[in-house]
Amino acid sequence: MNREALIAELQALTSAQRASAAPAHLDQHSQDQSSHAAHQPDAVVWPETTAEVSSIAALANRQRIGITAWGAGSSLEGNSIPVHGGIVMDFTHMNRVLALHAADFQVVVQPGIFYKDMNKALAKSGLFFAPDPGANASIGGMVANNAAGTRTVKYGATRDNVLALEVVLADGQILRTGCRSTKQSAGYDLTRLLVGSEGTLALVTEATLRLAPLPEHFSAVVAAFPTTNEAAQAVFGIMGSGLNPAALELLDTATVTAINNADALGLHPSPTLFVEFHAASEATLAAELGMVEEICRELQCSSFQSGVGRAARDRLWAARHGLGELFKRIHPGQGYLITDVAVPISQYAALVAEGTAILAQLEGVSGYLFGHAGDGNLHSHICFADDAADRAQLERMVNDRLVEKALALGGTCTGEHGVGIGKQKYMLREHGAPTLDLMRRIKTLFDSNDILNPGKILGGDRAA
Ligand SMILES: Cc1cc2nc3c(=O)[nH]c(=O)nc-3n(C[C@H](O)[C@H](O)[C@H](O)COP(=O)(O)OP(=O)(O)OC[C@H]3O[C@@H](n4cnc5c(N)ncnc54)[C@H](O)[C@@H]3O)c2cc1C
Repeated sequence: MNREALIAELQALTSAQRASAAPAHLDQHSQDQSSHAAHQPDAVVWPETTAEVSSIAALANRQRIGITAWGAGSSLEGNSIPVHGGIVMDFTHMNRVLALHAADFQVVVQPGIFYKDMNKALAKSGLFFAPDPGANASIGGMVANNAAGTRTVKYGATRDNVLALEVVLADGQILRTGCRSTKQSAGYDLTRLLVGSEGTLALVTEATLRLAPLPEHFSAVVAAFPTTNEAAQAVFGIMGSGLNPAALELLDTATVTAINNADALGLHPSPTLFVEFHAASEATLAAELGMVEEICRELQCSSFQSGVGRAARDRLWAARHGLGELFKRIHPGQGYLITDVAVPISQYAALVAEGTAILAQLEGVSGYLFGHAGDGNLHSHICFADDAADRAQLERMVNDRLVEKALALGGTCTGEHGVGIGKQKYMLREHGAPTLDLMRRIKTLFDSNDILNPGKILGGDRAA
């Protein structure tokens, strides 16, 4: 089917305004926030109902045209880049809250709602959806990538907070998985399979999410350490002591310095932990803060500040969430590489040591190390003069080595960004051939014509 015919069909299934091949629309949907090469789709469509999603999928399946779902396009591994063209299905018109079950701490939403907007609306009911990736991601994109964030250490990742889904299969069939009960034991857990499938198995049209009450009392801690090793040891100390922080982030000296220069936060310029606690009472909070202080002082922290007030705490988290944008501002026009590995918490110090050693060996580039430490998750962000040789070399020197170390320590090649394009090369190593083969068979079972986000997670044959 040529492009004109495709647009005409998509417009007939939606409306004249909601299917386009305008260069600006194709361009907008050709690149996520990663540094993977852009690729334009042949058409963009904005469905407004599950029925429209279903009829578009049925058309694409008949014609063997790829569909790449699109939320906010904030992925960091090329997850939403339509590498083989085809249709980008932009879900931003499906952005409504469908039902709030406040008594059960649950909300039912369409996938195109952005989580920050959703949380603003939920705040009136004293509730929030806890997973919080730095970017203002859509719920569909968070479900598809199993996104996590600073609060995952206490509240879980997206997968832990999805109870039920409505999805459209590749052939247009609409089905539901899961239910609103928080305990579910009835057969295979398709909800958990679909969460994290990056739009390769089905298109999410509705999600029932588990919410948490906004904390009655909270307090932030900022603790600086002489070296990243001591900071990482403190992470293990805090998690190993049975404390339950609501956030536990590690930032290396370069990252803290960048934040100080940009936001004048006056942080001690050395490896630092940002920690937050949520509690039902002041007394619990005070007890937890006391224990954290003890652990940090035992590990020779060079400064410890607790009881950080709301305004200062909000500035800390804004600075933490703004790191990606900050690095781009500091290194305008440069290429960048973002890594994402995770290990069991007892191995976190070893992973941080490897990251620190790798960055110390780099010449002529700027490297930053930080991560959701409480989950054993470590990121690096490397900025470099953008030429292909640098990129390939840095992939080998940084990404390959960090992944190798994480796998050796019992961890994973991606804690939260997903596989997309960039992590496919590690899948065999992480899972082994039999498991990978089962994944391929699951993909074929759901999508025998390989039309859903072709070329992602497992690579494979593309739709025509
Ligand atoms: C500055 C910055 C900070 C970040 N920090 C974090 C972080 O802390 N933690 C974290 O986990 N991630 C982080 N990310 C990555 C990103 O925000 C998440 O992966 C997020 O889940 C992507 O959501 P999105 O709406 O942008 O999805 P998109 O990028 O649009 O899509 C993501 C994937 O979901 C699929 N998809 C989208 N909608 C649907 C749907 N309705 N049905 C089926 N598939 C769908 C797409 O095809 C794609 O494979 C960060 C990104 C940036 C730019």
